[in-house]
Amino acid sequence: MSLMGQMMHMPLTISSLLTHAARHNGDVEIVSKRVEGDMHRTNWSEIELRSRKLAQALARLGLQAGDRVGTLAWNGYRHLEIYYGVSGAQLVCHTINPRLVPQQVAWIVNDAQDKVIFVDINIFPLVEKLAPMLASVKHVVLMGARESMPKETTLTNLLCYEDLIAAEDGNYQWPSFDENAAASICYTSGTTGNPKGAIYTHRSTVLHALAAALPDAMSLKATDTVLPVVPMFHVNAWGIPYAAAMVGCKLVMPGHHLDGASLYNLFEEEKVTMSAGVPTIWLGLLNHVKSNNLKFSTFKTTIIGGAACPPAMIRTFENDYNVDVIHAWGMTELSPIGTLGRLKAKHADWSLDDKQKLLEKQGKSVFGIDMRIVDADGKVLPWDGKAAGDLEVKGHWVVSGYYNIDKSPLHDGWFPTGDVATIDADGYMQITDRSKDVIKSGGEWISSIDLENVLMGHPAVHEAAAIACAHPKWDERPLMVVVKKPGVEVTAAELIAFYDGKIPKWQTPDDVVFVDEIPHTATGKIYKLKLRESFKDHKLPTI
Ligand code: ADP
Repeated sequence: MSLMGQMMHMPLTISSLLTHAARHNGDVEIVSKRVEGDMHRTNWSEIELRSRKLAQALARLGLQAGDRVGTLAWNGYRHLEIYYGVSGAQLVCHTINPRLVPQQVAWIVNDAQDKVIFVDINIFPLVEKLAPMLASVKHVVLMGARESMPKETTLTNLLCYEDLIAAEDGNYQWPSFDENAAASICYTSGTTGNPKGAIYTHRSTVLHALAAALPDAMSLKATDTVLPVVPMFHVNAWGIPYAAAMVGCKLVMPGHHLDGASLYNLFEEEKVTMSAGVPTIWLGLLNHVKSNNLKFSTFKTTIIGGAACPPAMIRTFENDYNVDVIHAWGMTELSPIGTLGRLKAKHADWSLDDKQKLLEKQGKSVFGIDMRIVDADGKVLPWDGKAAGDLEVKGHWVVSGYYNIDKSPLHDGWFPTGDVATIDADGYMQITDRSKDVIKSGGEWISSIDLENVLMGHPAVHEAAAIACAHPKWDERPLMVVVKKPGVEVTAAELIAFYDGKIPKWQTPDDVVFVDEIPHTATGKIYKLKLRESFKDHKLPTI
């Protein structure tokens, strides 16, 4: 028999992240802009104590290992306590996106069979309305103090969060258990078909946090002050609540105040150094700083992902505001981190322009994630930066199945992402599209992301979406849907002319339509399905 090692075996549990934070960085602050309207300050040590009290309260309510506990809440300290109190007690934290249509929220709660639901004060009306449809839910806990409790409610099972905590003494030890136990569950947004539940393990969550914090990933440090704009209900805020506890950094939680002015004030007041979020949220912040002629005093880095980050946004952040943008790609099924745009040593003497171009891609994979691209027959394609194929991944924090669904999603042991990508010889991956968003013109593919990126660089364009429009000769041709910047005029012909020399001529969009607003999904992506539906009868001028 081979010689075995003699190292301690400690299960990689989520509670170990929090006990580390409390013991070694206990006085580091967690600051929250509360739903109640005021600012609230606490620290890792208090969060740990209150999470233990919450675990005691959940045991008192009769919850048992593996039971699901739902949350409908914004980013804040109570939500953080629920993350740790629930998973730490071997229950399963199920974050739910309150921006989903109510029927979908009900569907998800029923699929997960949540026993308890924690809800923020301003989301409570949704739960009250849905309550008759939520048979599995034994208790609803309002995330506030006694004075926030509604005077009248149709619910007979409503509890007060602060009362639950106050009733416990904190004399509780985090249990030790198999690191492969379920820790949390997130549902994909299900823009086509029903949402699907991805169940993360304690082990996958801790390994993901370790990788996320690495210098070539988010590069989180104890000296950072991190403001996750990405909601805690969107793939666990990309793992930041876990990675932050691991490195012991300060967290600033924005609640539901995500407009440009509120975010900017929070960045300045709390000296935020690092942030993360989807591209649309940054449009609002950049508009605010630009129109008020403001600068950031401490903000240095932001991770942008969840949808393709337009190169123009990267340039604006870097050139006008001295903020580094790290472009990242991932998905719910990957916990979510897959790749990030970071340089290698060999790029040191590249020109600034070439470096910037490389960093516009979605980037290289972190240790723990492998990837490949395959063609329609499943044949593996070369890494030449040109061949585009279906992106498949495997790794320590990639799903192997979905909750309540027997059929394996895997293809030959790999998880098919539904994205189309190229990978270059140095391993830099670039998403050209979601496979269902690709525009198929005369048998060739046109990348909707490429078309959007060009117009996002036009000074009159606030937001642009490329969709396929039916064409009798070419099957599909690109149509651009554009929101203009306020007070600026531009014509469709001018925008079409703007493509000259920037993309192959045959890919030039056939038409541009102007709208007041582009619809977004609950996770902040352009809602292509809805746009295609709205413009399905649009007659292209080229027909
Ligand atoms: P859902 O799959 O539930 O809509 P996710 O947040 O998991 O929500 O979305 C994952 C998808 O988002 C990816 O498969 C990809 O299409 C898209 N995406 C994420 N990050 C990027 C990025 N940096 N560039 C382009 N697309 C991205």
